[in-house]
Amino acid sequence: MNHPTLAAYNSEAPAPALHPERHIVTIGGGAAAAAAVTALRQGGFAGRLTVIDPILNEPVDRTNLSKMTLAGKKPADTLPLWSPEERANLRVDRLEASVTALDGTAGTLTTSTGQALQFDAALFAPVVHPKRSASPAKICPMSSPSAT
Ligand SMILES: Cc1cc2nc3c(=O)[nH]c(=O)nc-3n(C[C@H](O)[C@H](O)[C@H](O)COP(=O)(O)OP(=O)(O)OC[C@H]3O[C@@H](n4cnc5c(N)ncnc54)[C@H](O)[C@@H]3O)c2cc1C
Repeated sequence: MNHPTLAAYNSEAPAPALHPERHIVTIGGGAAAAAAVTALRQGGFAGRLTVIDPILNEPVDRTNLSKMTLAGKKPADTLPLWSPEERANLRVDRLEASVTALDGTAGTLTTSTGQALQFDAALFAPVVHPKRSASPAKICPMSSPSAT
């Protein structure tokens, strides 16, 4: 891993293969989503992971960007939280689209590209207030609304 925070999740201990039949999606693919899916893999989650974000690049550390890189204290190549290869090793799919509709009860969502996805759990990490869902059980807000 490039990034020290995500590298902290690395462990030599073999993890059990948990929930191979499940599909977890993240709405947003920034730092919160990257940390969450990395932790899921390190904890043994063996199911499908899909990160959905319209931004084409891999996630970057925005704190590092504003506080270190722009001040010339850290090189720009430390910004990405993972490389495409590291993401592939974690078996995380990346969908380049916005989530435009989500039904938490049915476990379905629709993207700006017209794709429909079924999920078992959705993790909200878009740095905004998510709309309240009728079924909060499947929804886990990650981003702090104040962190903008
Ligand atoms: C230049 C800059 C500097 C910052 N500096 C600091 C700092 O020093 N300290 C601090 O605490 N915070 C800082 N922040 C706030 C920063 O956003 C958060 O700390 C951190 O990036 C939050 O990570 P995140 O994963 O929640 O959000 P992000 O990394 O912003 O990722 C959220 C992602 O959600 C995606 N998204 C939004 N809506 C949808 C949708 N409908 N469907 C799919 N994807 C969607 C967005 O495209 C985005 O990529 C800074 C922000 C910026 C822009």
